[in-house]
Amino acid sequence: MADLFDLTGRVALVTGASQGLGKRFAQVLAARGASVCLAARQSDKIAGLAADVRASGGRSHAIALDVTDASAVSRAIADCEAALGPLDILVNNAGVAISKPFLEQGDEDWDKVVGTNLRGAFLVAREVARRMVERGHGNIVNVASVLGVDVVGSLSPYSASKGGLLQLTRAMAHELARSGVRVNAIAPGYIETDINRSFFQSEAGQRLEKTLPVRRIGQPEELDGALLLLASDASRYMTGSTVTVDGGFLVR
Ligand code: NAD
Repeated sequence: MADLFDLTGRVALVTGASQGLGKRFAQVLAARGASVCLAARQSDKIAGLAADVRASGGRSHAIALDVTDASAVSRAIADCEAALGPLDILVNNAGVAISKPFLEQGDEDWDKVVGTNLRGAFLVAREVARRMVERGHGNIVNVASVLGVDVVGSLSPYSASKGGLLQLTRAMAHELARSGVRVNAIAPGYIETDINRSFFQSEAGQRLEKTLPVRRIGQPEELDGALLLLASDASRYMTGSTVTVDGGFLVR
């Protein structure tokens, strides 16, 4: 049986690739043969990762992209395609969280979180999808969260943005299926990265960890399988789906 997860010859764009899950996603796609366009707000932060991919025989290109800057998105994607070829895969990963009680969340907190996680994902997905539709194929993976369907305290704009991203995934999948473009989401539970590391070192974080059915938070590599499923032909009959990887968080 051919390797269902092989990505040789595919070109992928990963947003927010400088650290955490985005960095891991880019490494995994490259290890499976994809050429990877790495996007981050500061391109010097990803130059090293791009060089590592090239040193292991892969193709990569680093671009500066703040996903909240609508005027920059089209130019950045054109830059990726000029360097590596037409995009086959988008991993819409860039995201932020601001933890504060609902009554203390300011207008600027809302704008930052929803502007990055939902509007930013929309801007990048729309630009990439336009190009994919013209070519009649493509594959978009949105990085949502279990907090798009469930809630915990002090993350109201984050939950709203990820709930919106899950619905955007479904709406895009519905409209783009006939054009050959698939759109799915990964909903991670708690995975240890800079977004939550200090919280999980705190007493409250350790208490929360003990409430998880598997009694531990996840590691970035525990999303490899879900990412490769959605990014490859292994999921060719999937669109509009959400793959949850949460150590049982949603059934706790
Ligand atoms: P992280 O803070 O380590 O990484 C977030 C990345 O997004 C960084 O590279 C950051 O520079 C980038 N980013 C932020 N704003 C940006 C902008 N305006 N333009 C471009 N890039 C921007 O956190 P992470 O855990 O790696 O998060 C990655 C994604 O996974 C996020 O969408 C996050 O919401 C989601 N997620 C994470 C977890 C978790 O437990 N770690 C759980 C569910 C979902």
